[in-house]
Amino acid sequence: MPEDKLRNQAARCMDCGTPFCHTGTLISGMASGCPINNLIPEWNDLIYRGLWREALDRLHKTNNFPEFTGRVCPAPCEGSCVLGIHNPPVTIKNIECSIIDKGWESGWITANPPAIRTGKKVAVIGSGPAGLAAADQLNKAGHWVTVYERADRPGGLLMYGIPNMKLDKEEVVLRRLQMLEQEGVKMVCNTEVGKDISSQDLLNEYDAVVICTGATKPRDLNIEGRQLKGIHFAMEFLTANTKALLDGQPGEDFISAAGKDVVIIGGGDTGTDCVGTSLRHNCRSVTQLEIMPQPPRERAADNPWPEWPKIYRLDYGQEEAAARFGDDPRVYTTTATKFEGDSEGNVTGIHTVQVEWQRNEKGQFIPQPVAGTEKVIPTQLVLLAMGFLGPEQPLLDDLGLEKDARSNIKAEHGQFTTSLPKVFAAGDCRRGQSLVVWAINEGRGAARECDRFLMGATDLP
Ligand SMILES: Cc1cc2nc3c(=O)[nH]c(=O)nc-3n(C[C@H](O)[C@H](O)[C@H](O)COP(=O)(O)OP(=O)(O)OC[C@H]3O[C@@H](n4cnc5c(N)ncnc54)[C@H](O)[C@@H]3O)c2cc1C
Ligand code: SF4
Repeated sequence: MPEDKLRNQAARCMDCGTPFCHTGTLISGMASGCPINNLIPEWNDLIYRGLWREALDRLHKTNNFPEFTGRVCPAPCEGSCVLGIHNPPVTIKNIECSIIDKGWESGWITANPPAIRTGKKVAVIGSGPAGLAAADQLNKAGHWVTVYERADRPGGLLMYGIPNMKLDKEEVVLRRLQMLEQEGVKMVCNTEVGKDISSQDLLNEYDAVVICTGATKPRDLNIEGRQLKGIHFAMEFLTANTKALLDGQPGEDFISAAGKDVVIIGGGDTGTDCVGTSLRHNCRSVTQLEIMPQPPRERAADNPWPEWPKIYRLDYGQEEAAARFGDDPRVYTTTATKFEGDSEGNVTGIHTVQVEWQRNEKGQFIPQPVAGTEKVIPTQLVLLAMGFLGPEQPLLDDLGLEKDARSNIKAEHGQFTTSLPKVFAAGDCRRGQSLVVWAINEGRGAARECDRFLMGATDLP
């Protein structure tokens, strides 16, 4: 957005007495307002007055990585903007992105290693946004931080999850990773804790450990024909695609959508990224199956402001598919019942049926197939994007960590302490698959508690 338009947007901010946009409260399980409590009205005012450098400092007080959230956050802040009650909300996310981009372009963001080192050593396992936020904060507090990552590049889902067109790897992700390294954070890649290095050795070697291993166990669809070739988890497709881009050539595990009729099962963000990636491969067609009904265009009566608005949105993948093929690729209230294949074991089609959501005797909503709505969609590539079932268990079992009912690491939000002394947990491995902004919130919180544990007191926010 040009600077005069950004100033106008910032001027629309009303400096509300109670700025709901930065509360980050959970209402009905969804975030209302910014989960890292960005000081939005304050930087809006600074932008309105043309004080960009000051706005950048104010933004960095609460957010380690605004260039990530400014690009990929769903912006719960905008859903709770007071102006949004009767007008479009202030374009908060866009302003955030402009502030940090200007900061980088102007050379205002430079390495700032801590002046004093405490001599304490902390290991962070996993280099996603939670691990990186924890590492950044602990390093700022003067501890020596080593981040262990099993992938060949650090970044977690920022690197091998969210696609390049949404979050540029070389210009945006690597730039921040290099800055963290210049400030003293050590990154050790190609090293899986529990396999390449024993978790016990890590506990012996470090004064504290922060686990940030994400929630990477995908939900499967065990229906007839699941074993056919051409049916993959979304992350297999997305990871190999980003790796091919970064390596400059496709690897052995690269999955091409070129010339294929692609069916994506799951209407969420991961599915959307598969739509956008399939289009870039030049697929022949793309269909996205969603079992839930199409959301309303406006807030429903039981979803009032300042709750996160559960409304129909055309995300980038669907917008691009509509531009190419004429329509939103999502098919609602539809589920897959069976895959069919050819004599060589390749998938050739997917059987679908529409569902109706009905309450059972316990009062729970369950999908019921509607007779006469069965269809067969021809396909040569099926991508399963139906969410995640929590963290992978081997490391947790190896350490003997207590887990919650959903197989996440048991640790209270705010405390982040696990059942093991000197071991903390943050991000998706603690709360289940979530958002980058929540991962930053948790990484910062775990760093604060870890610092308190190491030093007896903490100045970290
Ligand atoms: C395809 C996709 C798109 C998404 N898009 C968005 C979006 O647009 N906006 C948004 O806000 N959120 C999005 N999300 C969610 C967001 O990416 C996650 O919530 C966030 O990355 C979680 O951060 P984390 O640090 O907890 O874990 P992760 O980012 O998952 O990082 C965990 C890291 O730990 C490493 N690891 C695991 N076990 C070990 C071990 N034993 N030893 C060493 N390393 C290990 C993993 O390799 C991984 O790199 C998306 C998720 C997916 C899957
Ligand atoms: S991090 Fe997300 S919720 Fe917070 S201000 Fe930025 S876009 Fe809004």
